[in-house]
Amino acid sequence: MKTKKRKSIIIVIAVLAIMLVIIAATESKPIVWKESCTGCGDCANYCPVNAIKVINGKAVIDHERCVNCKLCITTCTFGALE
Ligand code: SF4
Ligand code: SF4
Repeated sequence: MKTKKRKSIIIVIAVLAIMLVIIAATESKPIVWKESCTGCGDCANYCPVNAIKVINGKAVIDHERCVNCKLCITTCTFGALE
């Protein structure tokens, strides 16, 4: 009986973990508001996977590389990332 209950708990946890991974993967990735971006490069410096480059004075995000951690959004003091 205890083993059956333990198996059920493990299945529920596994399903929840899979759902969280799917939600994280499908959530939209950050975008840059070009009008607000000053090209300071702070977001690029903090991106853990080097997915941001400043090109012609504006931040450009490589969405293939981005892991959607949202660190850049909290880093930008100009509100240029959403
Ligand atoms: S931190 Fe903000 S203002 Fe600076 S380059 Fe990144 S998006 Fe642009
Ligand atoms: S969300 Fe994270 S990984 Fe994606 S560009 Fe911003 S800092 Fe880099």
